[in-house]
Amino acid sequence: QFAAFRTDLSVLLDQVGTGKESLSFMKGRIRRLAQQWATAANRLEAKLEERWRDQKKILVHVGFLTEESGDVFSPKVLKGGPLGEMVQWADILTALHVLGHNLKISISVKELQGILGVPPGRGSCPLTGPLPFDLIYTDYQGLQQMKQHMGLSLKKHKCHIRVIDTFGTEPAYNNEEYARLRSYRTNWGYWNLNTQQYMTMFPHTPDNSFMGFVSEELNETEKRSIQQNKVNNMAVVYGKEASMWKVQGKEGFLQILHRHMEIHGTVYYETQRPPEVPSFVKNHGLLTQHELQQLLRKAKLFIGFGFPYEGPAPLEAIANGCIFLQPKFHPPHSSLNHEFFRGKPTSREVSSQHPYAEQYIGRPHVMTVDYNNSLEFDSAIREILRTKVDPYLPYEYTCEGMLERVHSYIQHQDFCAPETLFIPSNISSPGSGGGGRITGPLFVPLLNSTALGWSSNVTVPPAWPPLSSLRLLMSQEGQSCVEACHSVGFICEPAHFRFINNKEALHGLEVQCEVVDSEINHILPAFSVVQRECSLQREPLLFSCAGYSPKYRRLCPCRDFLRGQVALCRDCF
Ligand code: UDP
Repeated sequence: QFAAFRTDLSVLLDQVGTGKESLSFMKGRIRRLAQQWATAANRLEAKLEERWRDQKKILVHVGFLTEESGDVFSPKVLKGGPLGEMVQWADILTALHVLGHNLKISISVKELQGILGVPPGRGSCPLTGPLPFDLIYTDYQGLQQMKQHMGLSLKKHKCHIRVIDTFGTEPAYNNEEYARLRSYRTNWGYWNLNTQQYMTMFPHTPDNSFMGFVSEELNETEKRSIQQNKVNNMAVVYGKEASMWKVQGKEGFLQILHRHMEIHGTVYYETQRPPEVPSFVKNHGLLTQHELQQLLRKAKLFIGFGFPYEGPAPLEAIANGCIFLQPKFHPPHSSLNHEFFRGKPTSREVSSQHPYAEQYIGRPHVMTVDYNNSLEFDSAIREILRTKVDPYLPYEYTCEGMLERVHSYIQHQDFCAPETLFIPSNISSPGSGGGGRITGPLFVPLLNSTALGWSSNVTVPPAWPPLSSLRLLMSQEGQSCVEACHSVGFICEPAHFRFINNKEALHGLEVQCEVVDSEINHILPAFSVVQRECSLQREPLLFSCAGYSPKYRRLCPCRDFLRGQVALCRDCF
C-alpha cells in the first residue's frame, strides 16, 4: 500500500494516550508544532513528485516510559528532569505518522504483549507466527523487555528493530563475543545488531544512523521581529535543574558574565530560590517549551555550564537568534574518564558540552572556550556583545529535513538481507544479482589519482547509499575513518565497508603489503605500518568508522553528503 502524507495529527494524538506527565508533554509538543509539520509534509511531497512510498506497519515501543522499567522520567517532567528524550520520541512519532505509515504505540509491557499476541506474564513466551510489523522502533530498555517477553524469536526478527540510542553504540561494544574478549565493557551493548540499527540524537559516529529531532522554525516576519527585539545584554543560562549549577569555578566566570550582562535562569524550584543560583540571577523557574522560546527570542546569549550534554536546548536557542557559549572540555569527556558516560557503549570523546554545536555550527552562532581562563572567557563575552547573528537552524533539524531523512531510511535501509562480504571476483558475471551496472571507475581514491582496478562492466548488488557516493581513502596512523573522511570533506559510510574489504581496494591505493590475511578486529580492513601487512575484516558486524589504532592505517569508505543533511548523499534521496 502507498504511504500517503498526513497533515492531520488528531489520530496520532489519540494514540499517544494519557495519564502521565511525559505523555502530556509529548502531546503538547505535537500540537504546538503541528502547523510546522504540515508545511514540511507538503514541501516534501512536492519534492518527491509522486514517487512510490511503501506504507510500513510500524510498532513503536517506548521502553523508558514503561512502568516495568521504573519510569523515572515522567514524575520529573515538571521538576526540571530531562526532556530531550521526550522531545525526540514526540518528533519520531510525528514523523512516522506524517509520512503515512501504519503505527501502533506501546508504553507498557502489557500493551506490547497484546500487540504482539504473546501470552501475558513473565518469562520467555516466543512469538510463534510471523512478526506482524515491518519495523519496530524502541530503546535499550524496550529491547530488553522484548527479549524477556519474546524469547528466542527476537533473534529471528531482530533485523526489523531500530533502537533509539541517544549517545550511540560503537561496533566494538555491539558485538558480544568481541566486546567480552577485548573488554569493551558496557551496561548496554552486546546486542549484535548492525550498528546502523542504532539511531542517535545527533550525528555522532556514522556507524549509527542519525535520527535527530526538530526545532522550532521561524518565518521571515518572526525573524525580523526577533532582530528588532533582541536585548543585547541579556543572557539565559542553560540548566533547568539546580544541580547543573553546581560547577567548579562558577563564581569566577559568572562574575565576569554579570559585569557585562543581565543573567536569567529557568531553574526549577518548589518554594525558595535554589541555593546554587546566585541572587543576581533572575530565575523564572521551569518554563514551558513555548515560554522558553519567548525568553530565547529576547536573549542575546545562551550559556552552558557543561551539563546537560548534547541536549536540544542549544539548537532552540540558536534558532531563536542567540549565540551559544559553552565550555571546551580538556581533556575530552568519555566513558573512560567520566562518570556520566561510564558504561555507555562508546569510546567517543566529547570535546565540549555540545560537540554538534561546536563542530557542525560553530562561529558566529557557537563559541566554545576554556572557562578556567578568565581572559579568554571575558573576551568571548565582549565579542558576543559586539556580534550580530541571524537565527539559524541546520536543515537536518527542520521538520522537512527530519521527514526527508526518516523517509529515506524507511524506504532504503534493509538489515534483513544476509550480510555478505562483497568480493569482486565472485560477482563479476554481468547480469547477476540484479544490481546496477557500474560503468566508471568503481573506487575513486581520494588522495590518489589512480582509479581502482576492476573498473567497468562489473555488476554489483544494489546498495544504499548508492555506490556512486563511495570514495576510498587511507587514514593516517592512529586516525579513525570518522576523522580521515572528515579531514577531506567527506563522511565515513559504514554500509560501504563491504565493497572495500578486498585486495583490489588495497591495490588501488597502491599499498605495498607483503602479506594479506583476514582477521576479526574492528580496526580492519587496514595496513599495519610496522609489519607491512594488510588485514581484511572477517566479521561484518565489526566494520567500524570509529575504530583507530596507532599501529594501523585504515582503509576507509567515505561518501559525499548534502549540506545540512549529513545522513544523506547527493544520490541518496
Ligand atoms: N525546556 C523547557 N523549559 C525550560 C527549559 C528547557 O521546556 O525551562 C525544554 C527545552 O525546550 C528543550 C527540552 O527542555 O526542548 C530539553 O532540553 P535540554 O537541552 O535541557 O535537554 P535535557 O537535559 O532535558 O534532555
